[in-house]
Amino acid sequence: MNKSVRVRFAPSPTGALHIGGVRTALYNWLLAKKTGGTFILRIEDTDQTRFVPGAEEYIMEALKWLGISPEEGVFEGGPYGPYRQSDRKPMYRQFAEQLIADGFAYYAFDSAEELDALRKQNESEGKTFKYDASTRLSLNNSLTKSEAYTKEKIESGDYVIRIKLPADEQIVFTDLIREEVNYSTHDMDDKVMLKGDGMPTYHLANVVDDYHMKITHVIRGEEWLPSTPLHIFLYRYLGWADAMPTFAHLPLILRPDGKGKLSKRDGSKFGIPVFPLNFTNPNNAEDIALGFREWGFEPEAVLNFLALLGWHPSDEQEIFDLEALVSVFEMERVSKSGARFDFDKARWFNQQYIFKMSDKALAQKMKPYVEAAAFEEKVCDEYLEGVAALMKERVEFVKEFPEKAYYLFKAADYSLMMENEGKDFEKKVGKGWDSTKKSMFEALNSKLSGISDYKTAAVQSAVEGFINDNALKFGDVLPVLRLAVSGTMKGPGVFEMMELLGREEISLRLSTFFKFCDNFIAKN
Ligand code: GLU
Repeated sequence: MNKSVRVRFAPSPTGALHIGGVRTALYNWLLAKKTGGTFILRIEDTDQTRFVPGAEEYIMEALKWLGISPEEGVFEGGPYGPYRQSDRKPMYRQFAEQLIADGFAYYAFDSAEELDALRKQNESEGKTFKYDASTRLSLNNSLTKSEAYTKEKIESGDYVIRIKLPADEQIVFTDLIREEVNYSTHDMDDKVMLKGDGMPTYHLANVVDDYHMKITHVIRGEEWLPSTPLHIFLYRYLGWADAMPTFAHLPLILRPDGKGKLSKRDGSKFGIPVFPLNFTNPNNAEDIALGFREWGFEPEAVLNFLALLGWHPSDEQEIFDLEALVSVFEMERVSKSGARFDFDKARWFNQQYIFKMSDKALAQKMKPYVEAAAFEEKVCDEYLEGVAALMKERVEFVKEFPEKAYYLFKAADYSLMMENEGKDFEKKVGKGWDSTKKSMFEALNSKLSGISDYKTAAVQSAVEGFINDNALKFGDVLPVLRLAVSGTMKGPGVFEMMELLGREEISLRLSTFFKFCDNFIAKN
């Protein structure tokens, strides 16, 4: 029987979670859902110097907002806890010591200054210093020092434990995305596994935890690919080769201009969000993260956008809700090459999701923004549904409704119309406005006021009838009507807007507009 899938997202709480991290979480989550497996959140905080207060909560909140929360984790608990590495600290030492006992690791005592001096000296000779099979026997460690010296150092806690890698061994493994990957220990070094204070490094803690948490698939960013051969050695040396997880390394996310990796700083640089939520680093007030949530994105749109950042289905389909993603997502279809972070595409997804939303749901989402805009006229939910129906294909973000549909919430603003579309007004209405026109439109206004059932179709047929009866053209009447109703040539169908705004409001707008046109003629 196949083992059930267990995947983990293992961020370090060093600040706001970069959007690349969110994509890693999503792909892990998708694989877990697709296979009926378990999605785990593990906090990797062994590097206490980089810890940022609030980062853990931020990660949890971001996943929750997106709807991809873990089943096991720091806050959820679970059978393989604790899920925060600093809370697991006592576990790690025994494995480092086991490596030593089995001849796969050694104690090293070189001071930071000594290693630094070696690095500098190598550099000046155009070489790179590596602590490895070629150098370790000339360095300060338990392989070169006496037993008594070693014992003394261990007792004082003044040591690290380093893995002992073979001099020149090829290591080949299969990555779900990159297929066969090849490394040589020649290019690797004897990395530190544990420090004298008992704190493990990322590598040891990561492997020990993956093993104990029964992780079946390690899905993470491409930057961890070079660490994988080391992790494979650890599995072998600790006797866990049979439990080796499958590895999958996700492609980089590239900057919007395609030039290099998208970094945390690119958010402020390009003025776009590269984080799920806003966050201000309490250790550094200049480190401000712009979030997709606060920008106004719908979580489903963000997930859809992120899913396609590096993965693509077998056809051209682009819109997938979470359920659809679960069913079509395949790790094997994740690409090897970097994916460009195209913010316009993210906006497009948001627009698509708004367009797909029911008028009822959209009305509820719009409500707080409309309330915040504090229009004089209060409107009911049903009215907001009407606004949603007319405007949903015209906004990218829900927060735009009050501004983009302002004329559905307050009187049309004809001075704004002049600012934006003055030329249109002059050409289509203003220059030809005279008393004959005015009385004709006044007649139309009174005809419209007399409609018994003020619905789109009735309003339309009244206007069409009027055009025919007076042997006019559509172009003689519709621009006037539209500008009078909304103060803009853009926007939803004029008859639909008339139904929503209602008889009295339309009648008032028409007469106000006629006065505006009179004034225009008087001034020009
Ligand atoms: N703690 C690592 C990170 O911050 C996790 C890498 C991994 O998934 O193994 O990305």
